[in-house]
Amino acid sequence: MKNRVAIITGAAMGLGFAAAKELASEGMDLVLVDYNDKSLNDAQVELEKDFPAVKIITIVADVSNEEAVKNYVDETVKVFGRIDALYNNAGIEGKQAGMTEYDVDVFKKVIDINLMGVYYGMRYVIPVMQEQKYGRIVNVASVGGIRGVLNQTPYVASKHAVSGMTKNAALEYGRDGILTNAIAPGAILTPMVAEAFKQVNPEDPQAAETEYAQRNPTKRLGKPEEVAKLVAFLLSEDNGYVSGQTIAVDGGESNIYGNS
Ligand code: NAD
Repeated sequence: MKNRVAIITGAAMGLGFAAAKELASEGMDLVLVDYNDKSLNDAQVELEKDFPAVKIITIVADVSNEEAVKNYVDETVKVFGRIDALYNNAGIEGKQAGMTEYDVDVFKKVIDINLMGVYYGMRYVIPVMQEQKYGRIVNVASVGGIRGVLNQTPYVASKHAVSGMTKNAALEYGRDGILTNAIAPGAILTPMVAEAFKQVNPEDPQAAETEYAQRNPTKRLGKPEEVAKLVAFLLSEDNGYVSGQTIAVDGGESNIYGNS
């Protein structure tokens, strides 16, 4: 993927950083976007050390801010002149609470980041891809974008919306050579999931993790690198005809009904 350019949001850690490593290993130039400037800088330093031939820029931006998104897209075009791939990955989980007790401000924040952030990314990147007559987009949904998840109403709502917007982008822009898909990770061990285990069992997060892993057919959590391999394929020219799909990366867990 030499001379190809990818934007990754939420690139400083977790799934975004793992994808950055995978795409860099395939020679793609990278635009790393995150609102955590310290971690973003650490990510750039590590990637530049491991992949000296790859050109990497970082842009501090909150994806829920439309102007900031427009700016990261403009900046990418200014520096690289094109955008081949968008990994629309930045997202937050919010708090764990029942639907009727959920803090409305947190609810709106989850929607602003997970839904509007993904929308703004596509809104400003797609016109650039249309000009090129080529583009690949991967939006990050979740198993919570396919099924309900107890105590996570805004997260589930936002991730179903991501899956829905993905279908529309595929319908509306396939004619321009733009293929858009979503991924639906299950429990992948990233800082976000480590934090969720702390909320579930503040005394013993490791016990919460071990118990959770037992539900999965593979009896383990997923690794960020395992998600990155699929993302790299969907963002490459090797993907010629997969579009509008929400693909689970969950060790098969979303197929369980009842006990197993
Ligand atoms: P993480 O918290 O480990 O990393 C997320 C990164 O996104 C962080 O660097 C954070 O600073 C950044 N970010 C968050 N909000 C942002 C914003 N408004 N603007 C810019 N940057 C922002 O999370 P993760 O586990 O790597 O999750 C990445 C994506 O994958 C999220 O959309 C999440 O919902 C989704 N997901 C993760 C899992 C999992 O098991 N880890 C499962 C399903 C879906």
